[in-house]
Amino acid sequence: MLTLIKNGEVYAPHYLGKKDLLIVDKNIGYIADEINAPADFVEIKVIDATDKYVVPGFIDSHVHILGGGGEGSYKTRTPEIMLTDITTGGVTTVIGCLGTDGTTRKMENLIAKARGLEEEGVSTYIYTGSYQVPVRTLTGDIIDDLILIDKVIGVGEIALSDHRSSQPTLEDVTKIAAASRVGGILSGKAGVVNIHVGDGKRRLDYLEEIVENTEIPITQFLPTHINRNQELFVVGIDYAKKGGFVDLTTSIDATIASSAISCSQGLKQMLDAGVSIDNITFSSDGQGSIPVFDEKGQLLGLEVGKLTSLFGEVKASVQNEGVSLEDGLKVITSNPARILKLQNKGLVQEGKDADLVLLTKDTLEVDTVIAMGQVMIENKEIKVKGTFE
Ligand code: ZN
Repeated sequence: MLTLIKNGEVYAPHYLGKKDLLIVDKNIGYIADEINAPADFVEIKVIDATDKYVVPGFIDSHVHILGGGGEGSYKTRTPEIMLTDITTGGVTTVIGCLGTDGTTRKMENLIAKARGLEEEGVSTYIYTGSYQVPVRTLTGDIIDDLILIDKVIGVGEIALSDHRSSQPTLEDVTKIAAASRVGGILSGKAGVVNIHVGDGKRRLDYLEEIVENTEIPITQFLPTHINRNQELFVVGIDYAKKGGFVDLTTSIDATIASSAISCSQGLKQMLDAGVSIDNITFSSDGQGSIPVFDEKGQLLGLEVGKLTSLFGEVKASVQNEGVSLEDGLKVITSNPARILKLQNKGLVQEGKDADLVLLTKDTLEVDTVIAMGQVMIENKEIKVKGTFE
């Protein structure tokens, strides 16, 4: 199957200018100043991208695809994600994880859900484990999971500095990082440990100590929720300046917790503070439960974290904070692809997977979404639905 995208302005995420792209089956086949479909050739679908930006499909590196929550008892367990919850946010790759509950949600369910979503059209990977230590894996061993199970690209989300964590010792976390590193090296994967950082005052202390006292490099960790409060955010800036990666959560903002920093403002502040754009990523924490409070702090109810917040915060950083579109896109495309070693993702480049988003130039709205060469959304109209949608 051939799809030709014409007259778009390409951010790869670096700026390439006006280019035509030919998608050959599931890959970006050719990129050139002009590509024209010959007459009397096989059928070619042509998408006119005039007044559109053509950018890489978004990567959401922390999504509770099986549902999350349950922290207000059983009835607050959030439902599983649907395909269009993902694609309407322009997301074409998700990394699924378990959270607080590793009892009623298992790795066996998680991998089945990830495979189901992949059958429906998006690319999926998973972290092995949940908040808990010892880590509950699929095979019983972190290294074995990484080497033997294709979808497993790291460990997470391991909870630290949080009243809901299993209060692991420094040694426990060191051993997890060591196993993830070795499993990653032997399987050609990132072997990153995704760390849920809570509101506790130990913040990133464990990671700093492990990096200081062992041979494990700082790049082995991807701590998330760094924008959840001001104190952690400041520590995160310091950590990133030492070469660490920091992940900001787009479904967290001041409406959730008054001390939280929105990702759009957080990105701008980090760049102003001298953090390299290469060290920052965004993820949505999508499909987890989000408590909603009124002005008086009364609980109004629960909502489910949305993947649309991922690009929503990038868009806000560009429109309201003056961040360049190139930098904004990096945190949800090329950066997670590089950090998580997703070789064929995150770039508009010949030979890469045909995961693309077309954005309207004036309003930066997600207009068209292509995942592995398949048009999932076209002119804001959903073309492919999940099995039960
Ligand atoms: Zn978390």
